[in-house]
Amino acid sequence: MTQDRRNDGPSKVGTGKVGQVKDVTSLANPIIKDIKALSLKKHRDETGTFMAEGLKLVIDALDLGWTIRTLVYAKNVKGKPAVEQAALKTVSRGGLVLEVSEKVLSAITRRDNPQMVVGIFDQQYRRLSDIRPARDETYVALDRVRDPGNLGTVIRTSDAAGASGVILVGDTTDPFAMETVRATMGSVFAMPVSRATPEEFIAWKKQAKAKVVATHLAGAVDYRTIEYKGAPVVLLMGNEQSGLPDELAREADALARIPQAGRADSLNLGIATGIMLFEARRHLLTLDAR
Ligand code: SAM
Repeated sequence: MTQDRRNDGPSKVGTGKVGQVKDVTSLANPIIKDIKALSLKKHRDETGTFMAEGLKLVIDALDLGWTIRTLVYAKNVKGKPAVEQAALKTVSRGGLVLEVSEKVLSAITRRDNPQMVVGIFDQQYRRLSDIRPARDETYVALDRVRDPGNLGTVIRTSDAAGASGVILVGDTTDPFAMETVRATMGSVFAMPVSRATPEEFIAWKKQAKAKVVATHLAGAVDYRTIEYKGAPVVLLMGNEQSGLPDELAREADALARIPQAGRADSLNLGIATGIMLFEARRHLLTLDAR
């Protein structure tokens, strides 16, 4: 992404501890154009960056050590201690701080009522080959997940259930798309995401010695009867339209089904993953765990 660090409209954040802040009101500003283009996957891929909205998310991401490229905030939150802290951290890590009008924030986020703070971060994937699953760890593997809302929900739910990572298998929707990031409600910064081809996933699964529990509408095993204690578990979930392909289903140690009543053919992918996660980790979750 183009990052012009010259200050053609100098201003100070709050007490003035942050000196180099660019004041931007024009939608024609090239930095703003670049940020707006992050709504396109092509531009996210080219720059290796993505956008996250909201002060809390930005603060959490900074605390978790994510690399921030640009912090954007609305003039009306200037001087708020938390915003100033975020701005200081951004500058001290070599990032750019932009103070903008609400009109610019609306354009960047494509929302009428935008969040007052936005961060542009480096994308981060965990290499699958670096994962050596340990006892009682749970991973979720998603086959060709298509819907950004589903992916965001799975990342958020995996975080809430104490899972160790989400593995994207095959051609999937982008975990760093704006809609996905919104649906994660910040968990995109807490939950490591890996990606793999089906062949890479199968090879990894063999050497990882994890128990793969695949979910399938034709599964013969009631998901509540499976032993999830001890060995690391990988919950393998199928594509929204076509379910799990045979090449992945036959790699499973168990083919699990969630019993259903009523007329619905299947459960939504995010819901099915949530049910599986909380069952697989039931023995590890207590009300006073956090
Ligand atoms: N038409 C698809 C099929 O034939 O599998 C429906 C896919 S469903 C919307 C998406 C995924 O959620 C499935 O591949 C499976 O992993 C999981 N799923 C949904 N309902 C399930 C159930 N009752 N039992 C087990 N897995 C289920």
